[in-house]
Amino acid sequence: MKIVFHPTFLDHKMPGHPESPERLSLVKLEDYIEPEPRIDLVEKTHSPDYIQRVKTMKEGWIDPDTYVCGKTWKASLLAVGAAWKAYEVNGFALVRPPGHHATRDKGMGFCIFNNIAATALELARQGKKIAILDLDAHHGNGTQDLVLGNDNVIYFSTHQSPGYPGTGLRPEGNCFNFPLPPGSGDGDFFKSWNKFSPVLEEFDPDVIGLSLGFDSYFKDYGWLTYLKFSLKPYKTVLSLGERYHLFGVLEGGYNPESIKDGVDLIMNMGP
Ligand SMILES: [Zn+2]
Repeated sequence: MKIVFHPTFLDHKMPGHPESPERLSLVKLEDYIEPEPRIDLVEKTHSPDYIQRVKTMKEGWIDPDTYVCGKTWKASLLAVGAAWKAYEVNGFALVRPPGHHATRDKGMGFCIFNNIAATALELARQGKKIAILDLDAHHGNGTQDLVLGNDNVIYFSTHQSPGYPGTGLRPEGNCFNFPLPPGSGDGDFFKSWNKFSPVLEEFDPDVIGLSLGFDSYFKDYGWLTYLKFSLKPYKTVLSLGERYHLFGVLEGGYNPESIKDGVDLIMNMGP
């Protein structure tokens, strides 16, 4: 898969914070497609009050976990644009800040705007059916908030429970949540995946969007989260690109080695 990236993603930073540019430090960034900023998609996804708050905040905190710096506004508009570009080119958006915790009205959990939901909602408005598959170690509460009840979207998430943000404890409507206890590995993932597969077949999406966090990967194990997936679950969802129009967006993953392994896999797969 092609990588969609913009150097401005490295300018979003706050000293000492785990969601840092160092996360991408082991990825070879030579050959990539640059996105355009997409304020239009941000405005269709988030509330005017919240957008204004991010735009006017020069440096500070959206919530106790989520910072804004002087470059955050620019990086966040480009991150939303990168998800859309990734959809257009069947690529992977190597974005910062991540997005899946951002709800319509607020950023949280290191996320400013919801990159994958902004693309999914635009596709839904165009009449396309999209399945979002979220392999991050945390539940994408923001994605669920934005797509719940949308007939053109289904959302699948495996995530550690108990764990941040404490949502996704059961399926809700078009959101197929599979909470996994700390210590869960590939076997637990595939039990969930096998339950969801018939739903995906039945829904028959036009597009699949992957919300890929590498904090579920075993190399992130024991720091912020306690799932220990190998690359197999990631490989399984990436291989759907053989049958579906597929793209992906980076969410979490805080050990640079996790992201490196993940991106190596992504670059070696798909179109
Ligand atoms: Zn996460």
